[in-house]
Amino acid sequence: MLPEPIQQSIDLFARLPGIGPKTAARLVFFLLRSRESGLSEKLAEALSDLMEKTATCPVCFNMMSAGREQCSICSDPQRDREVICVVEEPLDVPALERTSGYQGLYHVLQGALSPVEGITPDDLKIKELLDRVRGGEVKEVILATNPSMEGDATGMYLQQQLSGFDLKVTRLARGLPMGGDLEYADQNTLLRALMGRQELE
Ligand SMILES: [Zn+2]
Repeated sequence: MLPEPIQQSIDLFARLPGIGPKTAARLVFFLLRSRESGLSEKLAEALSDLMEKTATCPVCFNMMSAGREQCSICSDPQRDREVICVVEEPLDVPALERTSGYQGLYHVLQGALSPVEGITPDDLKIKELLDRVRGGEVKEVILATNPSMEGDATGMYLQQQLSGFDLKVTRLARGLPMGGDLEYADQNTLLRALMGRQELE
């Protein structure tokens, strides 16, 4: 019914999470109506840059600009290299950075363990974390996985894996809303959870 480019755009938008065919159609027709604004061209360019100009930090697996050797946090000499804060997703890093209460390094797992979705330890950057810890410089690992069933399971698994090392393993204090994402927690709550972190036995 629709011209091919319109249908194709609708189909592509509809593949994004949380966007059904109706919303996809609304977005595409909004773009068609805003021809004057150049929004569609800007969007196309931004999406192309998204893949070409970003990369994953080979140390902590946070996002970084393409062409860098390490992300801006890993390469910052001011950061405390004895502490690693383990998070699930790249967006958890700016959330913790906004609290201004953390000076250490990060490790982005790129997900959480989930038997339902078939996500196993091999799918996450766990081996890479253990390799970092094996380097010997790390004195504390803060488990800052999400306050959810998957996050807790991931935290417990990591605690087991880290128990053989000579370092302190801590977990963010309770108080973050259960089932919520770290990235959506407000700054003060997150700072309190960070400051109140407890050592796991
Ligand atoms: Zn990094």
